[in-house]
Amino acid sequence: MPSNPIATLTIAQDLLRCPSVTPADAGALGVLQRLLHDAGFDVHRVTFSEPGTADIDNLYARIGTSAPHLCFAGHTDVVPPGDQAAWSHDAFAGEVHDGLLYGRGAVDMKGGIACSVAAVLDYLAANGGQPKGSISFLITGDEEDVAVNGTVKLLQWVAERGETFDHCVLGEPSNVEALGDTIKIGRRGSLSGTLVVDGVQGHVAYPHRASNPVPDIAALIVALGAEPLDAGTDTFQPSNLEFTSVDVGNPATNVIPAQARAKFNIRFNDRHSAESLQALIEARVQTACGNRIRARVEWLPSNAGAFVTRPGAFTDLVVAAIAEVTGRSPELNTGGGTSDARFITHYCPVIEFGLVGQTMHKIDERTPVADLETLTQIYRGVLQRYFA
Ligand SMILES: [Zn+2]
Repeated sequence: MPSNPIATLTIAQDLLRCPSVTPADAGALGVLQRLLHDAGFDVHRVTFSEPGTADIDNLYARIGTSAPHLCFAGHTDVVPPGDQAAWSHDAFAGEVHDGLLYGRGAVDMKGGIACSVAAVLDYLAANGGQPKGSISFLITGDEEDVAVNGTVKLLQWVAERGETFDHCVLGEPSNVEALGDTIKIGRRGSLSGTLVVDGVQGHVAYPHRASNPVPDIAALIVALGAEPLDAGTDTFQPSNLEFTSVDVGNPATNVIPAQARAKFNIRFNDRHSAESLQALIEARVQTACGNRIRARVEWLPSNAGAFVTRPGAFTDLVVAAIAEVTGRSPELNTGGGTSDARFITHYCPVIEFGLVGQTMHKIDERTPVADLETLTQIYRGVLQRYFA
């Protein structure tokens, strides 16, 4: 059998030529379905619905029935291209210029998916068509928007079939400057709220007959920023509360307003849950209020808790594969925003490793073709070690 049945670049170009801006699939999952079916995978296309959201197409494919079970996860949907006239090359043509593959999704994350599929097909071709265990692909079309009909439901669907995963590699663009510099082993959680201070409206000339919420909310903002939420952990930076706007909505200069509101977001580590943080912040607000200030916090629902995959045999194996191909020793990082790994972590240990993220979501999103080859070799090395 050929050692490389299908080139990574060809798969990436076929995916990029499907304009799969969330919630559209535009044929992207079909590209994977054909390749995986032909390689002997049991392929399922599953559509999920939720009132008020678009129906979303998803794909789950597995080869093998025994443990260990390694899953490659990802998303074929992409963010909109923005001003298409500003692109140097068509956002949905999958063109290569000067060794760079252009297109929306080139790094986030159709390129990463192409690398994992090519690596798996190559591994199977070299091993009689069957892994010593199971390999699966968990691919959604709903990551970049509300993410309610994607990975979170597909994981439930797989669990209801009685299937379990042992480990998962999510191919999001984890690297900062160069391929092999960063593995994401966890993410901080995210929680948003609004601090509301109620005063008493009145004329500025008669402040004793009013209660001004403006200095009061300023005092509470200072108080909440004065005490750290924690000191960080061995794998996470300290949790951080950041105020993002203060609003009074008062057009007049001679009226003391009735209410002031301040929005904030907290990025938190695994010392906290959303619930424990809410209790902590509300207690600190009440302490700062004393008996005088009337304040409360309105919370937005959060589905993004903090999680970490502790360094160990699995991360060591990925680090070794990266070092062998690139010579780099990756940093194990927990920074950045959220991803579907926050759902996968409830089912099995998950790490994120993909392409270099510099151009993701930007005009002229692109990846060096050489990086596609390198990432394919790294995933190939992961498979070799995992099933050794
Ligand atoms: Zn992504």
